[in-house]
Amino acid sequence: MGHVFDSTITDSAHLASPTDPAVLCPSIGRGRRDGDPLTVSIAQSTTFCRDGVGSDPAHQYSRVSNPTVAALEDALGQLEHAPPALCFSTGLAAETALFLAVLRAGDHVVCGRSVYGGTVRLLREVLPGLGIRSTFVDTTDVEDVRAAITPETRLIFVETPSNPVLELSDIPAIAAEARACGALLAVDNTFQTAVLQQPLDLGADISVYSTTKFIDGHSLALGGALVSRDRALLERIRFVRKCTGAIQTPFNAWATINGLKTLPLRLARQSESAHIIAQWLNDNSTVATVNYPGLRSGDEALAGRQHNSALESGTPCHGAVLSFELRGGLEAARHVAERLDLCTLVEHVGSVETLVTHPATMTHADVPREQRLESGVADGLLRLSVGLEPVEAIIADLEQAIAYAEASAISEEVAACTPA
Ligand SMILES: *Cc1c(COP(=O)(O)O)cnc(C)c1O
Repeated sequence: MGHVFDSTITDSAHLASPTDPAVLCPSIGRGRRDGDPLTVSIAQSTTFCRDGVGSDPAHQYSRVSNPTVAALEDALGQLEHAPPALCFSTGLAAETALFLAVLRAGDHVVCGRSVYGGTVRLLREVLPGLGIRSTFVDTTDVEDVRAAITPETRLIFVETPSNPVLELSDIPAIAAEARACGALLAVDNTFQTAVLQQPLDLGADISVYSTTKFIDGHSLALGGALVSRDRALLERIRFVRKCTGAIQTPFNAWATINGLKTLPLRLARQSESAHIIAQWLNDNSTVATVNYPGLRSGDEALAGRQHNSALESGTPCHGAVLSFELRGGLEAARHVAERLDLCTLVEHVGSVETLVTHPATMTHADVPREQRLESGVADGLLRLSVGLEPVEAIIADLEQAIAYAEASAISEEVAACTPA
């Protein structure tokens, strides 16, 4: 543990693939000795002993660094051929540290209009108090990004596929705009993870993660991470983390390390199922819209270029999240969400269970209604995070819930027409 980033890793001969077992299982193949534990241990300690006054051990105090957190940071960095990541208590803590490290009063952020609701809230409600302004644009259109850039723009923040409408933004094209104006590009890669999309290879400066979602994958541990190849930037963020105290906890780092081991397998299976379910919804006459990357006409080429595969066939995987709206709007969404049985209604994505969310009242409740509707998050939109259950069982559950919503709509219409 406490494995130090080795610069030879950038030598292509040493590149670790995101499915490399030595990366996914940090305790494997690193000089195992007789009697060693098979799994990474939890260093559940606030502080670390010193040999003497002025000694300089690798870990000193767990707000600054911790061996278990460092093991997770090594793995997440290696997945993107980068120095160790910086891990945080939550995804939003990671975003906050990034913003505090790179932005000053007077600076400006260009952010996708269709990003995680908490990101919008942080940029709209907290950063203006520090003199930092944000403009929200449709990042699927590079022209819109360019038009929003001002001489004060220091950061462009993009989420692709976006949450919850799964729109794709062209990372290399936006990276070129960022370079041209001297701003940094951060990509929230929570939905695809490094397994399905490599933002740094595509030109981004920072990959942003809520590890709470697919990386942990079991709904056990909140967490966030930032990955970058810019060592000076990493040091600035590390300093902010030490000053503000939002580092990951050893226990949650341990849970996340264990989730990481099956990440490629989970994403392969969950993406395959999500694709089948998206197609099934698309063919269903009660469904008004289905959002899934690669299924929407116009984004197949970009999806194919930007997304990697977790499958042996090498076919690109577009992730496990989709969203859809029924013709019956909000009422139909309410009936479906409450009638689903196998699929659970929660505010979450990325776990082994199939989860359904109503963004308008849950994840995006704090996004101003106008911005929400403009970014495609209709009142009746439902988001589905497809789990590991047999795909036929998930479809059967959706089928019975949609039939129930239809029947309820008809009986309500009849009741409305019947004189009391
Ligand atoms: C959940 C989420 C976040 C915030 O992460 P927390 O760990 O809940 O703080 C940020 N971005 C995306 C895309 C998310 O889904």
